[in-house]
Parts: sequence; C-alpha cells; structure tokens
Amino acid sequence: MSVSVHAEEVRALIDIAQTINAHLSIDAVLESVMSVAKEVMAAEASSLFTVDDDTGELLFHVAQGEKAERVKPIRMQPGQGIVGHVVETGEPLIVNDVANDSRWYAKPDEESGFKTRSILCVPLRTPERLLGAIEILNKIDGPFTESDLALCQAVAGQAAVAIENAMLHEQMLEKERMAAIGETVAGLSHCIKNILQGVKTGSYLVNLGMKREDMDLVGKGWTAVSKKNDFMEELVWDLLTLSKPREPLYEATDLNALCEDICEIGSQREEGEPSVTVDFKPDPNLPEVEADGKGMRRCLLNLVTNAVDACTDGGTATVGTLAPDDDGKVRVVVSDTGCGMDEETVNKLFTVFFSTKGSKGTGLGLPVTKKIVEEHGGLLEIASEKGKGTTFTVVLPQLHEDWRA
Ligand code: ADP
Ligand code: MG
Repeated sequence: MSVSVHAEEVRALIDIAQTINAHLSIDAVLESVMSVAKEVMAAEASSLFTVDDDTGELLFHVAQGEKAERVKPIRMQPGQGIVGHVVETGEPLIVNDVANDSRWYAKPDEESGFKTRSILCVPLRTPERLLGAIEILNKIDGPFTESDLALCQAVAGQAAVAIENAMLHEQMLEKERMAAIGETVAGLSHCIKNILQGVKTGSYLVNLGMKREDMDLVGKGWTAVSKKNDFMEELVWDLLTLSKPREPLYEATDLNALCEDICEIGSQREEGEPSVTVDFKPDPNLPEVEADGKGMRRCLLNLVTNAVDACTDGGTATVGTLAPDDDGKVRVVVSDTGCGMDEETVNKLFTVFFSTKGSKGTGLGLPVTKKIVEEHGGLLEIASEKGKGTTFTVVLPQLHEDWRA
C-alpha cells in the first residue's frame, strides 16, 4: 500500500530526530517524543510504555493532552490491554471505534473522565530488541489513517534508538556511581579497621596494666587509645570537608604566625622516630591574607606532616612564605629532603584514600588540602624527585573581592 507523506510530517520527523538525539535522560526523551507525536498526529493524548526487563511488566511513563495529563501512572501486566497485545505480537494496531469493539473497550477513567474513542499503537523497537510501545489516543479530526501509522512507526524507530542510548547512558552512570561508592566504602573500612585495631591494642594494655597495678603500662595503653581517638576525629573532619563544596570563612590571616605555629607542631617527634629538623623561613614583607584561618591550618599542617613523614631517615623540612609579586598571589612553600616520589605516585596523590603509610595514614590529607586551597581560588603546585625530596607550593590570592563586596 502506498502511503503519502506530507512536507509537514517530514519536518516533524527531522525535528524529532534532532530533539531526541539532544537528550540523554530517558524522561527528557520521552517528553519530547510524546509532544511531537501528539502535535503532528493531532490527537488528544499519547503515552509511552517500556517493558521492564526483569518482570515483563509494562511501565507507563508519560501522557500528554488536556485530560490525559491527570491519568495516574500505571504498571500493567505482560499482555494486558492493547499495549500489552502490541508488545506481545510486535505488530502495530489501529482501532478507530473503541466503543463498538468489545476487545478493546475500556470504561472512562474515573478520576479524569478521559474516554478513549480511537487508538493507534505501535511497537518501540531497535534492530536488536523490543523496548515497549507508543500509544496515541483520540485522533481529533477523523479516524487514524495508514499515513498516521507510517509516521508513528518512523517516530517510534527514532525514539527507540534514543531511549536505548539514554538507558545505556544511565546504566553507565549507575555503574560509575556504584564503583565510586565501592571504592569509598573499601577505603573507609580500611581506615576504621586500623583505628579499631589500635583501640583494641591500647585497651588490652590498659587492662593488663590495671591487673598488674602497673601505671606505666596503663598510661601507655591510654595514650594509644587517645591517639586513635584523635585520628578518628581527623578522619571525620576530612570526610566532612570532602562531602560538599564549602565557601571559605574569610578573615584577615597572618600566615607567618600560622606557619610558625605549625612548624612547632611538626617538629615534635615521638620516641623512636627519626629526627627531622623543621626550618621556618618567613618573608618579613608578607601582608595579611584574606583566608579561612582554620582551613589554612588544616592544609599547612597536613603538608608539613607529610614532609616530616617523608624524611624516613631523618632530614629537613622547610616552610617558607613569599609576599606577592606582580601577580598579587602569596605563596607558602613546604619542601623536604625526604624520599621524594616517582611520577606514578604523584599522579595518585589526590585520589581519596591513597596512602603509602599503612595504619598511620588515611590518604585524605592531600585531597582535603587541594579542595580547601581551590575553594580559596588558589592552586596547589607539586615538584618531586624520587630519592631527593618534594616541594608543595600553596598559591593563594592575597585579597578576595567577593568577601569584601
Ligand atoms: P596520608 O598522609 O594519610 O598518607 P595524604 O593524602 O596526605 O595521606 O598523602 C598521600 C600519600 O602521598 C602519602 O601516603 C605519601 O605516599 C605521599 N606523599 C605526600 N606527601 C609527600 C611528601 N612530601 N613526600 C613523599 N611522599 C608524599
Ligand atoms: Mg597526610
């Protein structure tokens, strides 16, 4: 049978191809398919069903049209209704006089009062598989024709490809989300396991000390427990910092005083740890900086701790400040004469939970540092040479227009 296609229909097909290919979410694809189908077909309502791969049920996605907008979303059993029939047979169907067709007659929808008079239903299929069906209801000016059917099939063909693309895209995003969650959970479990192990060992020593009435042992055990408590607190702060974007709480900050304080903390070493000298080289011309004091403290403390930790055979960590030159940026340079890193390690530095320190590290310090520095509109620069040492430079704008505005 020959079917005439009008220029208007060809334009509609080109339009729909462009619209649906521009969308990557299933909902957006469905909406645009349905609105074009309804406009070009001049019908009262339209809806789209996809087959649930697991249950075989038909999932109703959207209906458009004055009355159909109020029809509730439905889930239908396989084979149910005209859509079920079309999905089962894979063949399109036109019913132009629903009232006198006992097979497809349905009572008006109770809530909306919508009454079906005529139906055009075509399968939604890609060359590989059947995805569902499009149903167009109540042609306004007369019966559905073979030409409507041909147009609807062309629309359905394009829609099916776009929907399949959208589904694949969503599956891919879901996979990426699941992989990211999996990695986070694994990293976090590892940290918590280390903390628990430390608490267990400390508690054992406390118990033993009490039994033996050996206060030295109790003291040692208690120190171990409270250290793990601090570690846990740090971990929670780091996780909170990473959990969402934050606006720095700007205040006038004396970076020289802050760095001096941090050098003092960094130089405190425990018994048995290699001795590391921490040098402070302040620039006396460094002006006050508009920065989040607490945030900067976290960043610099982490960089200095890392620098000291890197000096596994002893060595020197140096913290220097630099007043702005023409670029209006201040710099804090943290360098060490420690183990240095190869390129592979440098590339992993900002991956959360990446740590080479076993139970002593969380692998969150550098991701947190980078985030805070970037939230200040700054940069974290790295230069490292394996076996020689590492230099981290925090580059910060001295002033924040947004803050003072
Ligand atoms: P953590 O200190 O808990 O391991 P970080 O994110 O602070 O986590 O650092 C991640 C890893 O980067 C460290 O475990 C270490 O391998 C490496 N690293 C960081 N700073 C230095 C440095 N100054 N020298 C050598 N390696 C470093
Ligand atoms: Mg660290």
